[in-house]
Amino acid sequence: MDLVLPVVCGGCGAAGRSWCARCATGAGPPRLVCGLRGLAAVPPTLAVGGYAGPLRAALLAYKEHGRRELAAPLAAMLAAAILAAPPAWGATGGVAPLARPCWLVPAPSRAAAIRSRGIDHVLVLAEQVAERLAAEGGSVGVSAALRMRRGGRDSVGLDPAARWANLRGRVLPRPAGLPPPGVTVLLVDDVVTTGATLRNCVATLAEAGVTVRGALVLCDATGSRDAEFVGRRRNDTFGGRLHAARFAQVRAGSGEPRRGWS
Ligand SMILES: [Zn+2]
Repeated sequence: MDLVLPVVCGGCGAAGRSWCARCATGAGPPRLVCGLRGLAAVPPTLAVGGYAGPLRAALLAYKEHGRRELAAPLAAMLAAAILAAPPAWGATGGVAPLARPCWLVPAPSRAAAIRSRGIDHVLVLAEQVAERLAAEGGSVGVSAALRMRRGGRDSVGLDPAARWANLRGRVLPRPAGLPPPGVTVLLVDDVVTTGATLRNCVATLAEAGVTVRGALVLCDATGSRDAEFVGRRRNDTFGGRLHAARFAQVRAGSGEPRRGWS
């Protein structure tokens, strides 16, 4: 007997689509992550939205519950955030991926986690983001330049100091996978909480001679209430087809960020 499971939204559970229009409207808007400022070696970090609501539910469904079809709408939101980013993010003139060659480096997951999930979920997201940006005319590659050494534990539940200690020295370069010299390098991750992962990735890449210009994450879980929204109005539908003219208009209105990076 064939069982046809109904399609439900990964954000809210409503029947019909894997990512419904209401959740697409409610996610975001993208914001510069303010809770990491002042920490050494954390690049300017752009998040699609907070770690809450439909965005959090969709990420967890994709990451932990096998809803792989959600990679498409999640990647669409990441790509849209890049295109709407202000000039300071990535330090490359705002439209970084379209203005010059850009390589996305996914934050590595533990090998055991990849095995149990059956997917390197951040790598898959990065690949789909690159495809979408390339379709918009950008020259974008994905470099799986980092891996996680065995050992350590999942960082969930650890305080900032313990997260840092848990990861220190465990993010290793893949020399054969490093981005070519002279390109813009952006880190990609799913959630930023304390910045420990991003800091470790930046440090490892720096030792390999690679400078990270910015980081892109789905969810800002820093707990900062000091959100600096960028690129679009809160009520715009998010996750629709990328449209260069629309984003050019949004960028023109976004201007310079109000505060400098520390
Ligand atoms: Zn929904």
